[in-house]
Amino acid sequence: MAEALPPLQPVLDEITEIARASDDRGKVADYIPELADVDLNQFGIAIARPGLPTVMAGDAQVPFSIQSVSKVFMLALALGKLGDRLWSRVGREPSGHSFDSMLLLELEKGYPRNPFINAGAIVTTDAVLQGSSPRETLGALLRFIRAAAGDEAIHINDRVARSEIATGHRNFALAHYLLSHGNLKNPPELSLGTYFHQCAVEMTCAQLANAGLFLVGAPGAPRLVSRARIRRINALMMTCGHYDGSGDYAFRVGLPGKSGVGGGILSIVPGVAAIAVWSPGLNHYGNSKLGTEAMERLTTRIGWSVFGPA
Ligand code: GLN
Repeated sequence: MAEALPPLQPVLDEITEIARASDDRGKVADYIPELADVDLNQFGIAIARPGLPTVMAGDAQVPFSIQSVSKVFMLALALGKLGDRLWSRVGREPSGHSFDSMLLLELEKGYPRNPFINAGAIVTTDAVLQGSSPRETLGALLRFIRAAAGDEAIHINDRVARSEIATGHRNFALAHYLLSHGNLKNPPELSLGTYFHQCAVEMTCAQLANAGLFLVGAPGAPRLVSRARIRRINALMMTCGHYDGSGDYAFRVGLPGKSGVGGGILSIVPGVAAIAVWSPGLNHYGNSKLGTEAMERLTTRIGWSVFGPA
């Protein structure tokens, strides 16, 4: 897949131009002021490849709230700690429902469909938290992300985390429901406090693309998890990473990807590259509207879909 690539910089510049000219940019998340106040007109994209300089365009150096993209990193920690025992607490099937839905959790008795919807991510975080403190867990998460990205400056925005705690009624409901089924092992305020802080990690596209290199599985990429685990995490990103829009993302982009309500998307080209795109306006699934369009354009241009060339 890597040979005969067109030069990436002109492609990213062109994609950025198109995104900047778009007058239908989606809607920013408005449940907390820190996200509602983000300028809708921003767009950034970055591509990291093992051993090569990161290529970027637009607002690729502007930090944003990675939100649910953090679920990928916490999943890697949880699998490192529990291995396959994690699957006794959370499934690996697409949910077909929105990221914060209660519906299936009730029908399926507190066993969340996958680690990327909120209920599943709360369980995943709870599993990593067990036996340690929120501070230690978040320290471990930041160490992992910083090691993956090769960047010690990556941090958590406390104000975002506090706003999430003040408004996260649905997440509290999910956590208490999990607890009622014995699928939460720590007090809900500790699991959720940790979860809200992980969502409040702030990164730029360039940092996020670099952090994604651990999932590329090629020589020169950071070896933080085994090849077998990379394959499984990528499979979950493909099937579940965009909630009820996962099928649409696979259809249009054809790569494993994880979105966040801050407008970021991390996508992996297995064996080749990690791509981060950010534009804060969301589509009706809660995934970045222009980010998805840009990824579709990029993978079509370069032939990077895992399902074959366009
Ligand atoms: N912090 C958000 C929440 O828990 C994350 C959701 C998302 O990015 N989709 O509701």
